[in-house]
Amino acid sequence: MTAAVRVVVIGGGQAGLAAGYYLRRAGLDFVILDARTQPGGAWIHGWDSLRLFSPAQHSSLPGWPMPPYPGPGYPTAEHVVDYLAAYEKRYELPIRRGETVTAVSRDSDRFQVSTDTGEWSAEAVISATGTWWRPFLPLMPGGFTGRQLHTVDYRGPEEFAGQDVVVVGGGNSGAQIAADLAGTANLTWVTRRPPRYLPDHIDGKALFDVATRRRQALETGQADTAGVAGLGDIVAVPPVREARDAGLLRPSPMFARLDADGPVWTDGTRRHADAVIWCTGFRPALSHLAPLRLRTTRGHIPTEGTRAVAEPRLHLLGYGDWTGPASATLIGVGMTARAAVTDIKAALDTGRR
Ligand SMILES: Cc1cc2nc3c(=O)[nH]c(=O)nc-3n(C[C@H](O)[C@H](O)[C@H](O)COP(=O)(O)OP(=O)(O)OC[C@H]3O[C@@H](n4cnc5c(N)ncnc54)[C@H](O)[C@@H]3O)c2cc1C
Repeated sequence: MTAAVRVVVIGGGQAGLAAGYYLRRAGLDFVILDARTQPGGAWIHGWDSLRLFSPAQHSSLPGWPMPPYPGPGYPTAEHVVDYLAAYEKRYELPIRRGETVTAVSRDSDRFQVSTDTGEWSAEAVISATGTWWRPFLPLMPGGFTGRQLHTVDYRGPEEFAGQDVVVVGGGNSGAQIAADLAGTANLTWVTRRPPRYLPDHIDGKALFDVATRRRQALETGQADTAGVAGLGDIVAVPPVREARDAGLLRPSPMFARLDADGPVWTDGTRRHADAVIWCTGFRPALSHLAPLRLRTTRGHIPTEGTRAVAEPRLHLLGYGDWTGPASATLIGVGMTARAAVTDIKAALDTGRR
């Protein structure tokens, strides 16, 4: 049995919820399909000490601000999960959980959306599946016999107490996990280039403003400011700042290989490692779109705003700046969700393809 709706949203994390908010306002019949059984998207994972890089008032989805965080510092991941769970209830979003989309294909002028439990037919699709589900690990020669983990596997420093741990990565995850481990493990923090900290006063709100200004500059033909990337790679959240200022975050350059015992640098330096934690990022989780055979560039589907260039009734939300400025953040995704739904509504109302 195939169920028909006007729009299928794939993914019920923050991006899917923001899309749901605008689809409801637009009066379109839709469903949100999510593989997990719990609300919260990627925020139900992450490590124990993970905090937002912005206060609650700058981490809100459209319509309803995130309630203030009652504790000290910026909100925890748990606070975000509670907010997302309450958000989907508040707006009565039609979410079906525990339903994984396996394939999206064309079916004359509609999409056929196949899941592990059934079939859906839709006039438009919003893909909002995030990146957490596709961790990226570089191939490294050498036959290391210790433990290797990715950011997605890290929970906290306790299990590494007294161990020799190598953290690889000069982005936010690498810096935060290195800071988290610094007092507990014998830490080696490896970065491909010297770490670039953003100025201490910069938080998620300021990053959103920078990303928006960049987009406006590009749209009006002004010089590319390089946006957030031009400022640095690491938001100096309080734990990172403290570890850095205490001299606990001393970076080493990237090693050349991982021998059985640990990393080896090009000058012959070796170090023992019990564990290597790869904080080397993520790729967009797009395998369900493979049957559409859309061209990809570096794993991204070419888009104009959120709309897939070669498939105008497919929109991509979240993932990264390539789907809109700060689209992969709580504060940024609302703007791109609104643009996507406005475009879908216009296409459906006019029969535009
Ligand atoms: C370590 C870390 C720290 C971050 N800190 C911040 C921060 O402080 N502030 C901020 O604003 N942003 C932060 N971000 C970025 C961003 O907010 C998160 O990555 C966010 O989770 C992205 O939301 P999303 O809805 O796009 O994807 P996700 O949260 O990953 O949600 C995607 C949903 O899609 C579902 N799904 C996936 N594949 C399928 C499928 N085939 N079928 C059905 N369902 C599927 C998943 O189950 C999931 O529920 C951080 C990211 C990371 C990794």
